[in-house]
Amino acid sequence: MGNDKNDRAEQGNLSGTEPTEIPAACQAQYETLEKTVLEHNPTADVTGIRRAFRYAARAHGTQRRRDGSPYVTHCTAAAQIAAEMGLDEDSIMAALLHDVLEDTSVTDEEMRRQFGPTVTYLVEGVTKLTSVQYSSREDKQMENLRKMLLAMAKDIRVILIKIADRLHNMRTMDYQSPEKQLIKSQETMQIYAPIAHRLGMQRIKWELEDLSIQYIAPEACHQISEALNERMDELEKFMQSIEARINARLAEWHIKAMVYGRIKHLYSIYRKMYTQHLSMSEIFDLCAFRVIVDTVADCYNVLGHIHDMFKPVPGRFKDYISTPKPNMYQSLHTTVIGTEGIPFEVQIRTWEMHHTAEYGIAAHWKYKTGESGVKAGDEEKFAWIRRLLESQQDSDAQDFFHDLKIDMFADEVFVFSPKGDVINLPAGATPIDFAYGIHSAVGNSMIGAKVNGRIVPFDHELQNGDIVEALTSKSAPGPSRDWMLLAKSGAARTKIKQWFKKERREENIQRGREMFEAELRRAGLPANALSDEKLAALIIKKLAITSLDDMYAAIGYGGMSATRSVNRVRDELQKAKTAQRTVVDRINEQIERRSQAPAGKPIRGVLVEGLDNCLVKFSRCCTPVPGDEIVGFITRGQGVSIHRKNCPNYTTSLAGSNAGRWIPVCWAQETTDRYATTLRILAKERAGLVMDIATVLNAVNANVRSLNARDTEGGAAVAVVTLEVSGLPELQLIINRLTGIKGVTEVTRAGA
Ligand code: MN
Repeated sequence: MGNDKNDRAEQGNLSGTEPTEIPAACQAQYETLEKTVLEHNPTADVTGIRRAFRYAARAHGTQRRRDGSPYVTHCTAAAQIAAEMGLDEDSIMAALLHDVLEDTSVTDEEMRRQFGPTVTYLVEGVTKLTSVQYSSREDKQMENLRKMLLAMAKDIRVILIKIADRLHNMRTMDYQSPEKQLIKSQETMQIYAPIAHRLGMQRIKWELEDLSIQYIAPEACHQISEALNERMDELEKFMQSIEARINARLAEWHIKAMVYGRIKHLYSIYRKMYTQHLSMSEIFDLCAFRVIVDTVADCYNVLGHIHDMFKPVPGRFKDYISTPKPNMYQSLHTTVIGTEGIPFEVQIRTWEMHHTAEYGIAAHWKYKTGESGVKAGDEEKFAWIRRLLESQQDSDAQDFFHDLKIDMFADEVFVFSPKGDVINLPAGATPIDFAYGIHSAVGNSMIGAKVNGRIVPFDHELQNGDIVEALTSKSAPGPSRDWMLLAKSGAARTKIKQWFKKERREENIQRGREMFEAELRRAGLPANALSDEKLAALIIKKLAITSLDDMYAAIGYGGMSATRSVNRVRDELQKAKTAQRTVVDRINEQIERRSQAPAGKPIRGVLVEGLDNCLVKFSRCCTPVPGDEIVGFITRGQGVSIHRKNCPNYTTSLAGSNAGRWIPVCWAQETTDRYATTLRILAKERAGLVMDIATVLNAVNANVRSLNARDTEGGAAVAVVTLEVSGLPELQLIINRLTGIKGVTEVTRAGA
């Protein structure tokens, strides 16, 4: 986040140990700080704070700020803001020392000796945040960056001190170059103001926003303040009259309250103008009012009076007392219409709520440690803060203080690319996740990785704030299969798999075949099971692939499990084996026997098990043709009647007393006969339909025996055609052509 120390004009005395006379102005600034600390906490021990001030003054020596003042004035001012937040002694000391580690020759060991581990830890934390490099990015990057800052600061006080530091730098931004003003202001707007908001620190958030927008949009801000100045008399008169009316009413009812009007913040006016495309004269609610009372009951009382005095705007009342905002904010909000028809907002709250609204997390942090006097372990102390930071709308304020062991971003880690992009990865992520997080091409060509400038192994676990660089080469061999185990993110694993799928087909086929065959053996099947072409064809069809190599390749890169493929094969093998024995084998035996026997009568293309030259006829119900799966029924005295296996007469009689009369039959290998079969054509009724059907049948050279058509109710027509075909392929062709006729909705075979 850029470096907040650039506002120093010169390096000055970096030895940092020369005793320096502390200028009177600096000393006076310090006395004010001490007073503020004691105001917030009368029992505070200020000796450490005093020591830290002197130490910082000496360490920064003759370093000066751009405005010419001694550098320590910045440290004291940041500490002053921290004191106004109500932070504890350690935080104030750390604020005074916050730039010492980075800008002077003082080492962290030295600081630890002088001020102990806690203060040093806080200063180190602030230094680390300060060193984070900022680059302007889209919103998603910003959100990651904010999360990262919060995650980096395991102790929330680090963030609070950092915000104090930034606020003072923004207050003194006038001395910087225009370019720097703009960069710092955008950074503040995108990073620090939202963090302050999440932490519930409205007052600091507004100040950060109002300061930043003046550098980001100086023209617009100038116009706004001009316009405000012009209307100031009128606005003040308005505010005074409303204040007076509310005060009078509350006095009448003996409600103790502080009432004040205020002009809305510069940035909120700016935002309104630019998001709603309004001019200043179109913005009516430039003023807002606050009523601060002692008790929650008084809040609702006051609300009643306000709604009695002014007309409330429907839909604008919000009760954030019964339902606090996730950042702990509590108040009643209402918008009413004043005397001249001007709407204005009134916020009603208790003093305690007011304090929370202004200082947010800092206020509660102070209450928490102040009350008991005993500091709980850090883990417990900040658990509720983590909870608070989760931006869940339904979070219940009552739960804030429960001892929740939720680690805010425990399952995420945020690192930087060398360009400054923040990459969000799962906790425990390695450089492999990082490289694939940038782009799969980066991952695939990675040959090494650097973290914070040092070469690290691929299993190196990344930490928050690490700067990670993937070293790539065009001649990289590509990912190794071990990477799949080292990658923590699903995205990286998927990309590695894809690479193996695409780049290593031959290798995958080889590897997949080995895995598949090993699995076959484990399942007790012969390793060469798929050398059976019929079975192979069946498996290819079942798996919807184009070749067995596809299956091996998929198994090889991990896209398909070998176990599941083998299970498929086993199922098919089982089915095929049974079928082969029962029908095909026996019928093939017959074919052999018949070919050896003298030529007899043609048997119309059907072989019946165990019955040579028996009488065969085709059922009328389902009119089978060669290619159909068929079954035979032994009739009484009329030979064997052939049905399709999906004929209802067959399927329904299987359960009955005639079930035993069904016998397996199959088509002879060559048939030259033609077979009659019947089709039902369903169509929307229209003139010329039958003619069209006849035309199509003629075009395909169909041997039609009969064609009948009739109309049905509802404007539909049914045509029934009986024709002769050589087998299923020809029939299918005819069905396809008939289906293509305009108005035809369905072509079905009779008996199916
Ligand atoms: Mn600073």
